[in-house]
Amino acid sequence: MAYDNDNIFAKILRGEIPCDKVHETEHALAFRDIAPKTPVHVLVIPKGAYVDAADFNARASDVEKIGFWQAVHETTAIAGVDGSGFRLTTNNGASAGQIVFHFHVHINGGRPLGGGKQPKGE
Ligand code: 5GP
Repeated sequence: MAYDNDNIFAKILRGEIPCDKVHETEHALAFRDIAPKTPVHVLVIPKGAYVDAADFNARASDVEKIGFWQAVHETTAIAGVDGSGFRLTTNNGASAGQIVFHFHVHINGGRPLGGGKQPKGE
């Protein structure tokens, strides 16, 4: 799938629509999810144009990758979940539930999240 420059997170990156910013670095922007599923629900996106995790992993430079994951790490502390536990999730592709096609990681926390939620086998 080609990257769509008009996706909602691209507009947030360009400042065309607002977000509740948590953290920003040279390589990433973190902001609160508009429909939080947990008391803390923050999205972290790279500043480069990547459709999904597979695209980011395949095409981003080492500097972008390190910068992105460092920003995720810092965001867990700023959001206050580093000591209490958190879940990192990325949905890769529509069949996995991805609805915004700019790579992003969800940070969920702020309450007990329960056991692992792996899909059941066929
Ligand atoms: P996905 O299913 O693609 O992994 O998750 C996309 C997430 O983006 C959803 O949790 C949704 O609530 C969030 N989202 C969609 N539109 C906006 C928006 O305009 N602003 C913010 N902050 N979050 C959004």
